[in-house]
Amino acid sequence: MRIETIAVHAGHRVDPATGAVAPPISLSTTFERDPDGSYPRGHLYARNSNPNRDALEACLAELEAGAAAAAFASGTAATLAVFHTLAPGDHVIAPRDVYHGTARLLREHLAPWGLAATFVDMTDVAAARAALTPRTRAIWVETPSNPMLKISDVQALADLAHGAGALCVCDNTFATPILQRPFTLGADLVVHATTKYLSGHGDVMGGAVVARARAGVFDAIRAFQAAGGGVPSPFDCWLALRSIRSAPYRVRAHAENALKVATFLARHPRVERVHYPGLPGHPGHALARRQMSHFGGMTSFQVAGGRDAAMAAAAKVRVIIRATSFGGMESLIEHRASIEGPGTTTPENLLRLSVGLEHPDDIIDDLSQALG
Ligand SMILES: *Cc1c(COP(=O)(O)O)cnc(C)c1O
Repeated sequence: MRIETIAVHAGHRVDPATGAVAPPISLSTTFERDPDGSYPRGHLYARNSNPNRDALEACLAELEAGAAAAAFASGTAATLAVFHTLAPGDHVIAPRDVYHGTARLLREHLAPWGLAATFVDMTDVAAARAALTPRTRAIWVETPSNPMLKISDVQALADLAHGAGALCVCDNTFATPILQRPFTLGADLVVHATTKYLSGHGDVMGGAVVARARAGVFDAIRAFQAAGGGVPSPFDCWLALRSIRSAPYRVRAHAENALKVATFLARHPRVERVHYPGLPGHPGHALARRQMSHFGGMTSFQVAGGRDAAMAAAAKVRVIIRATSFGGMESLIEHRASIEGPGTTTPENLLRLSVGLEHPDDIIDDLSQALG
């Protein structure tokens, strides 16, 4: 089955009780036992499972062609669940420009707990190899990366991880399963902030861990989901599942618009550098062509004249909105270094742009007047 068909049908069935084609929302926190004490309908308490979460998880597993998925209340809760399967004393290798929330989790919350992390340039497989220790249990890959849009070689990093007895975990939030299938490249786990493209309307927080195999590490993630309790509400699961149905068409349109916008920016005299893997001059262009079916809806660019010039351009947008996050209908622009805060490696003149579903010429006109 093709991904468009999976997105429409996975996790959906006509409600046997009423014939409803759109799924009902099951708000119940608790489920009835039979007189013999059993739970023949499969649910017991909504933190452990509920019908809307089951449907979303089934859909996410099918979208990634994985064996199973666990849904969480945010992408960060999903990330934490993966790290929590490791033990104090273990070591992970993560990209130097990993999503800043993931870096913060590792540095401020997991390092004191005993999980060591080394941050490397993940586009350089030799650098990742050099960071291996006897206690390395996971290599965390995020490609394209946020906000520099660097492309890492998932297959080579998965081979490296497996040779060292470690897991390869891929944060597939930027690409989505529509543009990139990490399990076909050897990844063991895929993490998503469904908050972004999969939910796609800027109105749901959610995350997920998808596993290539049902046994092994996924059992620990499933156990932590119920025990840790960072679970999404039935309504959020319903909203995410509803949005995924249109995701293949939305993501393709985001990517087509982003290519046009990045091409415009690359020719603009006030733009120093554009980071978009779809541009032939991008250092990861050839690799992105191999491991992605399109280059995605995110781009970032550096404005000539430093921080003040970047801030001034962001101040002038009229159609695009100045806000963090990405993957929704509306284009969003953000001065990334100031939200990442002290210690950021992001250039001060960089603006990150989530290219929305407005007409691309209107986005380009807005950028043109804002850059002056
Ligand atoms: C947003 C994001 C996350 C975290 O997701 P939340 O839902 O905000 O917790 C993780 N990874 C990437 C790449 C993201 O963009």
